[in-house]
Amino acid sequence: MDKKRIDIHCHLFSKQTLSRKVVSLLIKQLTDVSLSEIKVKKAGRKIFYKNLDVFEEEFDKISKINYFLKIGFNNDSEHIYKKLQQVEKNYIIAPLTLDLDFCFDEDKISGTLDRIQKYDENLLTEFKTIKTALDANIKNVTFDIKQYYNLYIKQKNKKELTNSRIEKFKNTKKEFDELSDKLVGEKRNSFASNYKADASFYSQLEQIKQLKQDDKYQDKVFPFLSVDPRRENILQFVKKNVGKDKIFYGVKIYAPTGYSPTDPVLFGTDNNNDCVYKFCEDNRIPITAHCSDAGFATFAENINITGEIYRFKEVIRVDDFQLYFKFNVIKDGVKAVEERAEILNHPLLWEKVMQKFPNLYLNLAHYGGKNDEWRQHIVNLMSKYNNLYTDLSGLYSKDLLIKIRNKFFKKLPKNIKNKIMYGSDYYIVTIFEDDFEKYLSNFKKVFSRRDFDKITIDNPSRFLFER
Ligand SMILES: [Zn+2]
Repeated sequence: MDKKRIDIHCHLFSKQTLSRKVVSLLIKQLTDVSLSEIKVKKAGRKIFYKNLDVFEEEFDKISKINYFLKIGFNNDSEHIYKKLQQVEKNYIIAPLTLDLDFCFDEDKISGTLDRIQKYDENLLTEFKTIKTALDANIKNVTFDIKQYYNLYIKQKNKKELTNSRIEKFKNTKKEFDELSDKLVGEKRNSFASNYKADASFYSQLEQIKQLKQDDKYQDKVFPFLSVDPRRENILQFVKKNVGKDKIFYGVKIYAPTGYSPTDPVLFGTDNNNDCVYKFCEDNRIPITAHCSDAGFATFAENINITGEIYRFKEVIRVDDFQLYFKFNVIKDGVKAVEERAEILNHPLLWEKVMQKFPNLYLNLAHYGGKNDEWRQHIVNLMSKYNNLYTDLSGLYSKDLLIKIRNKFFKKLPKNIKNKIMYGSDYYIVTIFEDDFEKYLSNFKKVFSRRDFDKITIDNPSRFLFER
């Protein structure tokens, strides 16, 4: 195989996958838009302009949500893939599927259709409440701006500039209304009917299968199967569908959605070693595991768990344990995600996995994200285990990338540098950075040509293909 560049971590799932999850995610993003501080009335001219700046920043957040929705609303993975290809020309990609069906309060979601519908309704109500509040806020601020516009803005060129900014706000808002209407709007039931138990997961797999079976893409696309140990018969499914000549080339693990990395289905037990990691180790199947303290996390307030978890600064073992979280994902946002990530996904939990399966090809994705402590743990693990890798996906902040280069990458010995891979986290990353061209160019600017080749060609080829 000639040496092509590789994006080791991206997502191509479409609307069906996300339907209700999109709503929860939107809720999280929208609560982050804050216009309530802006009170033009009390302002002098200087503050009036400053408020316009804040207004613009907040509207940028909305326009990112719009961008994400526009891509995510496409019904097929191929469409999303083509968008990615416009930037990552000729790259080989490893699209990771995502099983989010167990991400929600099991109490509310399992069981009867009635209960599922009830849950959907609650989510919708929540979304609508937040959107109504946001609408009112925008209206007030806009009204204020109009009222004081003539008072504060006298020069013609300033007027034109301000007008064009206001025009931009209007368009963003209009687009957002249209997109969110499409999601939850007029046809109340379209949202619920998009979701049948398991439909999102299997329709996602179906689309990936179509892509992989297309002659055009066969040697460009190497999908990873999302494995949630709570899904019935998942081990059998893995054995049947993951391998060198199968649709799926690797396995994806996302523990913060509500399970331990050493769940018995994945890790085996004292008397039974027939498990996902064993199968992957024996057959040299690469695994990518989410490993940052951001991203998705289970919405449940309590989960039943068996395996290792990280609590009170140490790894502890629990069996059939009812774990109660302190924070609520919808109410507390980031704090709740961090809480779940730490308990279920701390890098030291993965050390347990490596101790038992030392030859496993494992990618601890996102290189710890924003968390330097996790990053250091990952470095330590990489120095202990030959086949332990990490990827730089989702690192859209150029400053963070520079910090990682200076404080970590540059100081690493060669054998560890050889295990750091480029990843995009497309199209999830477009929520945070809607200019994907910029995302890739950050990497080209921050890393030398030689290092860029290393992280996009040599290292991921080893992780993906080396036998
Ligand atoms: Zn990802």
